This record gives sequence, structure tokens and C-alpha cells, in this order.
Amino acid sequence: MYKTSLVWLRRDLRSLDNPALSKACEISDTVYALYLAAPDTWRQHHMAPIQSDLIRRQLDALRDEFNALNIELLVLNAHDFTGQVETLRHVIQVTSAEAVFANRELEVRESARDNEAQSRIGVPFHLSDDRCVIQPGTLKNGGGQPYKVFTPFSKTWVTELMRLGWDCEPRPHPKVLKPIVPVSLEILTEWPYDTGNSSAWDVGSESVLKALRSFSRERAQLYKKHRDLPAIDGTSKLSAYLAIGALSGRQCVARLVADHGAPDTLNEGARTWLNELIWRDFYQHVMVAWPHVVKGKAFKTNYEAISWHNDPMLFDAWCKGQTGFPIVDAAMRQLNQTGWMHNRLRMIVASFLCKDLLIDWRWGEQYFMSRLIDGDFAANNGGWQWAASTGTDAAPYFRIFNPVTQSQRFDPQGVFIRSYVKELASTDDKRVHLASDGQFYNRAVVDHSEQRKLALATYKTALEAE
Ligand code: FAD
Repeated sequence: MYKTSLVWLRRDLRSLDNPALSKACEISDTVYALYLAAPDTWRQHHMAPIQSDLIRRQLDALRDEFNALNIELLVLNAHDFTGQVETLRHVIQVTSAEAVFANRELEVRESARDNEAQSRIGVPFHLSDDRCVIQPGTLKNGGGQPYKVFTPFSKTWVTELMRLGWDCEPRPHPKVLKPIVPVSLEILTEWPYDTGNSSAWDVGSESVLKALRSFSRERAQLYKKHRDLPAIDGTSKLSAYLAIGALSGRQCVARLVADHGAPDTLNEGARTWLNELIWRDFYQHVMVAWPHVVKGKAFKTNYEAISWHNDPMLFDAWCKGQTGFPIVDAAMRQLNQTGWMHNRLRMIVASFLCKDLLIDWRWGEQYFMSRLIDGDFAANNGGWQWAASTGTDAAPYFRIFNPVTQSQRFDPQGVFIRSYVKELASTDDKRVHLASDGQFYNRAVVDHSEQRKLALATYKTALEAE
């Protein structure tokens, strides 16, 4: 039992189902919660201003939730990861904390920082597993190795969850503690990073759980039918919450099970949605098993030989949604205007960047991070390496999305395109999908069939050169 403990919050910004918080409250008389802003590191990681805004707002909401539990939330500027360890030491001293509790972060630099903290803070540092529903390192293939292919991974994942008896019920609400003694610290008065406008995402436990409940009860059943159609609000849009830990994967699974039953009785829609949550775990497991992906390397190292063309003008056109391919431009404008992009569109624009424009996937990966409200290293890196054919279980390199046929298939009436590419508001349903001839807006920057041939040749040359 500790007199006073600190809970160091990172990407687990919630008061419910938070293992580190629950444990700390269980065995401490008083608890302080601590958040250490690291704007210099965030800049290096290209964190999107809209995600920083969501974090800022969620911390404000948490302050009230914690107050009700007699926990004071201290938000301080630590500048970078090194500063976080220093500031943590200072806060331990000022609060006389006897232990620190946190949920484990899985990225390489974050883990290194935690190792440093462990050796330097001078009090016990208790780490809990929280990021995934099934923890990395626990699922192995027949050869005892981590999975590189999603389908067998997902089967084992479900079996493991069944073995646990679907025991992923969110942890109970932390108990109300003894009142804390106010401490004197240099608390943040001004948020130290650019902020976008994240107000389309409500914050606080009640709102986040309401969003989960409403998706699970009203839309999960139709998820399989609607999930690929960007004109329909058919996906959960919970990624922003999952990325900053305002929601846990366990809470999602528990809700799904409560509303739709165990895996063998799940309807098609709910089962398909569960699969997406498994993809989320999959990419986290890949990142832990093969940390070279965190260092900017292709998972399949032989794909490092590709000679990307990296034309800055084409990249600029892609970023701005000015390529002349309506579905690509509508998608990029959705990202730039809202901070979120539909999954089908992420696949289309990523394939277009790598294979039609022959631009290094890492350029796209970074641009996404700098704009996405749900930017998450593992999911983003996994998605980009899938599209570039360089990753685990990736699309084979000769699979090249045709932006026009993708558009005709997934936005048949051009409803989504017209909502973002206003220039095409009055075009007919056939023409709205086609590469622009310059009549309504800028002419297409490349010819898809020519670029397709070029991409195939470029990939082939790289792979034969080994
Ligand atoms: P839903 O369809 O409702 O899915 C539920 C949840 O499952 C999501 O919130 C997300 O947490 C998870 N999920 C769904 N699809 C995937 C996937 N393919 N990989 C991993 N997790 C998944 N997702 C991010 O959270 N952050 C990113 O930075 C990110 N970058 C991506 C980049 C590319 C190039 C691609 C192709 C995909 C990327 N994704 C990323 C995955 C996916 O596009 C988003 O998770 C999804 O669009 C979020 O919308 P949603 O919450 O409505 O998802």
C-alpha cells in the first residue's frame, strides 16, 4: 500500500478501464495524475495539430472526471522525452509519491524512455498492458514465431479471446480516494503545440462511450454492407479516440459482445467490425516484433531498392487534392478539411501516391501523420506499407488500384466526390469519376495506364536487382 502514487498518463487518456489508474487507486491512499506535454518530440513525430487539440480538450474533460475521484490532474510542459523523465523526477519529489503507475507504450523511443525512467526515478515504476486487447508477444504461429499474415493471426486472436472467456470487461470505475494535498508546480497555462479544430469529436467519458454505444447498436449490424462507401456514415469514426486512448480496444469488444453476443453468434456486420479491431492489434504486434519498421524501414527490406521518382510538384498536387483524379482529390480534401479520411479512400490515395506517382510511401506516411486526428504510428505505418506492397501481408506489388474503377465501385453516384470537389458539382454521374481533361478543373497530372506500366517495371527492376 502506498500513501501517495502518481499515474503518468500518455496515450491512455481516460478515467474508465484504465489499468494503471485502477491499480494505483487500489493500492494508494492518494493519487495524482500527471500528463507531460512533449511538444519538441511531437514535432519530430509530425503530430497533427488537430490531434493535439483533441488531447488538450480530452485532458480538460478528464480534469473534472478526476476531481470527482479526488485525483488532481497535473499537466506540465516537459518539452521532449528526455524532459519527461526529468520532470517526472521533479514531480515525484514535490508530491512525495512513493510509486509511479503507467500503461506500457509499445513504440521504440517510448519504450526506451520508460526504461530510462525505470532506472532513474528512484521509486517503483509499475507498467500495465493496455494498448491492445491481446498483448503483443502472446500470439505465435505454428513455428513459434510472431504472425506476418493477418488471417491466421485473427483466428488465433479470436481463439485466445475465447480462451480468456471473453474476459475483456472494462475494469471497474476507480474508487474515490482521500482528498489530495494541493502541490506547487509550474502547471501549463498555455497549450504548447499548434492546435487545429477537433470540435467535431466530443470529449469526456460519457460522450466517447455514447459514440461507441450508438455505433454498436445502430450501425454495427450494417457495417459489412456500408463500410466501403465513403458517402455513407457507415464506420464508427472511433479511431481518434482509440489513437489517444480516450477509448480502449477492450471497451469496444465488450460493447460489441454485450450488444451482439459472443463471436460464434455475432452477425456479419459486428463480426466484420471486430475484424477491424483485430487489424489494430495486428499492426501493434508487428511493430513490437519487427521494430525496424519504426526506424523508417520497409518491412520487406528488399523493397528498399525501389527507385522512387519523388517529384515534388506531383507530391504537392497530391497533398492539395489537385491531381485531377476526382476520388483522390475528394479524399485528400476530406483529410485536409476534417482531419479524418475514410479507410477505402486511405487505400486509394496511398496506392495512387506510391504506384501512380512513384513517390516514396514514407512521404505519404508523414503527411498523413501531420494531418490525421487519429494518427497512430503502427496503424499508419501498416497501412502505408500495405499499399506500397512493402509490408507484412501487403498487397502484392502488381496489385495497383485503378482510381477510376475504385471510384465507380465505391462512390457510384459521385456523392462523396461532389461533396469535396465542388468543381464537379454539375457533372454527370459517368464523367464525375473520370480523370480530368481540364474542362471542369485541373487536368489529370498523370496517365494511369502509363504509370501502371512504369510502376510494374520499377518494382520488378528493384526486386530483380537483389
Ligand atoms: P472503423 O471501420 O469503425 O474500425 C474500427 C477501428 O478499428 C478503427 O477505429 C481503428 O482503430 C481500427 N482499424 C480499422 N481499420 C484498421 C486498419 N486497417 N489498421 C489498423 N486499425 C484499423 N488508422 C488509425 O487509427 N490511425 C492511422 O494513422 C491510420 N493510418 C492509415 C493509413 C493508411 C494508408 C491506411 C490504408 C489505413 C490507415 N488506418 C489508420 C486504418 C483505418 O483507415 C482507420 O483506422 C479507419 O479508417 C478509422 O475509421 P473508423 O474509426 O471509422 O474505423
